[in-house]
Amino acid sequence: MKRILVTGGAGFIGSHLCERLLAAGNEVLCVDNFYTGVRRNVTHLLDNSNFELLRHDVTFPLFVEVDEIYNLACPASPIHYQYDPVQTTKTSVHGAINMLGLAKRRKAKIFQASTSEVYGDPTVHPQPEEYWGNVNPIGYRSCYDEGKRCAETLFFDYRRQHNLRIKVARIFNTYGPRMHPNDGRVVSNFIVQALKGEPITLYGEGHQTRSFCYVDDLVEGFIRFMGTDDEITGPINLGNPGEFTIRQLAEMVVDLTGSKSAIEYRPLPQDDPQQRQPNIAKAKELLGWEPKIVLRDGLTRTIAYFDELLKENVPV
Ligand code: NAD
Ligand code: UDP
Ligand code: UDP
Repeated sequence: MKRILVTGGAGFIGSHLCERLLAAGNEVLCVDNFYTGVRRNVTHLLDNSNFELLRHDVTFPLFVEVDEIYNLACPASPIHYQYDPVQTTKTSVHGAINMLGLAKRRKAKIFQASTSEVYGDPTVHPQPEEYWGNVNPIGYRSCYDEGKRCAETLFFDYRRQHNLRIKVARIFNTYGPRMHPNDGRVVSNFIVQALKGEPITLYGEGHQTRSFCYVDDLVEGFIRFMGTDDEITGPINLGNPGEFTIRQLAEMVVDLTGSKSAIEYRPLPQDDPQQRQPNIAKAKELLGWEPKIVLRDGLTRTIAYFDELLKENVPV
């Protein structure tokens, strides 16, 4: 039995990861400051004696005894990470330093939830891991993009300097149940708007593209990556190469919900990447991994979750 720390474990992806690690027979310590995560995401795990929930902010040191660390703590939605940008950079950078310090002391293997945002508004398409990106260092998205880039630097320097066992995954847009209804990201926004019969807020013309990965596929990629030999450090792209325009996504959500919502145009946010699609050749080769759940099926499951949540009238 391994003792595994999941930071950001009460968030969307983190809660699915905690569940999956517990099901495999591990002890899980979930650390979260509930900035964007909620207790509701993990309350069903609280009865499990192998699960522990700790309120803690990773920008402060943490002394616990664990064998493996998954570092997911960081708001992921542009609205939330731009609300307190200085805290976002602190979470990425100081959080990484503290978790790497912990990994160093414990000789623990450590996984970093990096992001496709390290590629910025990419000029190479689809994006392979070798691409260094096109990132604005002083824009509204920079606190997140540059924070995550600096965290990657720290991971590789801790490896070179202290021989740490690291696994850096660059995650592309992921969706599924337990996204926060007010999260602000496109999939949850469109589904909640469609279910409530409110206008679907399409930013720009909706020609920009994203590639959406269902959360179960992503978590499978995490587990496989963590199980690889020590020389496999990444960065490795994890995402679904199926690429859609945001307008196509809006139309699919309206279709699957049977909603009468109309599309309402809003200005395109600054530095909004025009296109994004992962090249997952490395993940296929090194992890034997590729996503299995197509967008329509994943959306159907996600819609069912939000439908239930809205019916329950849970305060959010
Ligand atoms: P999320 O916002 O649902 O989860 C992030 C969690 O981290 C939340 O529970 C939040 O409360 C917690 N957190 C934030 N700051 C913290 C701090 N200082 N100390 C402790 N906890 C803190 O987002 P998510 O989609 O589950 O993302 C999880 C990770 O994956 C993030 O690091 C994110 O950058 C990365 N990622 C996600 C996506 C995606 O599409 N979902 C894409 C790329 C990268
Ligand atoms: N740290 C932590 N938990 C630990 C060990 C270290 O939070 O179990 C923090 C520690 O407080 C420090 C950071 O991780 O701020 C980096 O630790 P490292 O040992 O690399 O650096 P140093 O302590 O020498 O500055
Ligand atoms: N978007 C949109 N309407 C929304 C939310 C987002 O049109 O209500 C667009 C946004 O401009 C971007 C894409 O959808 O082009 C994905 O946005 P999200 O915030 O989900 O993630 P990003 O990939 O930009 O970090």
